[in-house]
Amino acid sequence: MIIVLRPKITRREETAVVREIRKLGYTPHIMRGVARTVIGAIGDERTHASLEPLASWPQVESVTPIQKRFKLVSRDAHPTNSTVTARGVVIGGRKVQIMAGPCSVESEEQLMRTAVAVKKAGATILRGGAFKPRTSPYEFQGLGEKGLKLLAKARRETGLPIITELLSENHADLVAEYADILQIGARNAQNFQLLIAAAKTGKPVLLKRGLSMKIEEWLLAGEYILANNNAGLLFCERGIRTFETYTRNTLDLSVIPIVKQESHVPVVIDPSQGTGKASLVTAMCRGAIAMGADALLIEVHPNPSEAWSDGAQQVTLEGFQTLMDDLRPFIQAAGRE
Ligand code: PEP
Ligand code: MN
Repeated sequence: MIIVLRPKITRREETAVVREIRKLGYTPHIMRGVARTVIGAIGDERTHASLEPLASWPQVESVTPIQKRFKLVSRDAHPTNSTVTARGVVIGGRKVQIMAGPCSVESEEQLMRTAVAVKKAGATILRGGAFKPRTSPYEFQGLGEKGLKLLAKARRETGLPIITELLSENHADLVAEYADILQIGARNAQNFQLLIAAAKTGKPVLLKRGLSMKIEEWLLAGEYILANNNAGLLFCERGIRTFETYTRNTLDLSVIPIVKQESHVPVVIDPSQGTGKASLVTAMCRGAIAMGADALLIEVHPNPSEAWSDGAQQVTLEGFQTLMDDLRPFIQAAGRE
């Protein structure tokens, strides 16, 4: 912590601050400038009482932390990129992984057709929501456990690992029994008890960015997973809420280099929720790959116009095949497989 003292304070006021810093277990380093004095307090802010209350002392101008608030997520804690493995599929390595499938699991026929088609086109992980976080309670809420069973069946038939959303702590064991990766949705990205429950299942956790979440808040939410002894964290950008209404959300691709600088955790981009428009998905995928994304999460439906959720943003089975063919040279140009 850096504690800046106000100008023209007495030596006795300064000594009181120094004494308090020592009392709380930190070592003070006093730097006297022409106009004011600055004290560096050395010590681990995680294991010592906070120095922040000093900010309310009349002789103190400011108290500023120098350590990052996220520790395990930080690149300082793990200088090389980390990888997350789900049923043998490695996310964060040379290979760009493609997670694809319907927004919601609707029926056996819909899921199986999609699973077979996305696998054929080159997807490596199957997505599908069984518990859906819908804005209105009158919209389709997902098939629940029946949807999970269908996902497990699709996995048996295609060999693709599955990612599906965990919506509630109450379902943590149930969803973890079926899923290879748990998705924490944008609306739950700061539901800390849910994050802890997800971490404790031991399954990899894909953490979406909340609709109005700052990057530091997102990194700190990810810290909950790593701090609960689960190294399988993935960050997924899915667009944030801005003043723009042309798109459903504003897909913030700048997080790719930022999260890569700050953290070792793999980055996944979801251009489907990110734009809300199927016609924009290809361009955003190209951009994401060029910027260093480790995986893409893409919504695919056999008949988007009849989808039970997110119809406008889902690509068709043929559209997905075309998309995958389109992306290959971009993946190569980015030095990935
Ligand atoms: C989804 O992936 O279908 C979904 C609901 O995502 P998000 O939480 O990003 O809105
Ligand atoms: Mn969706």
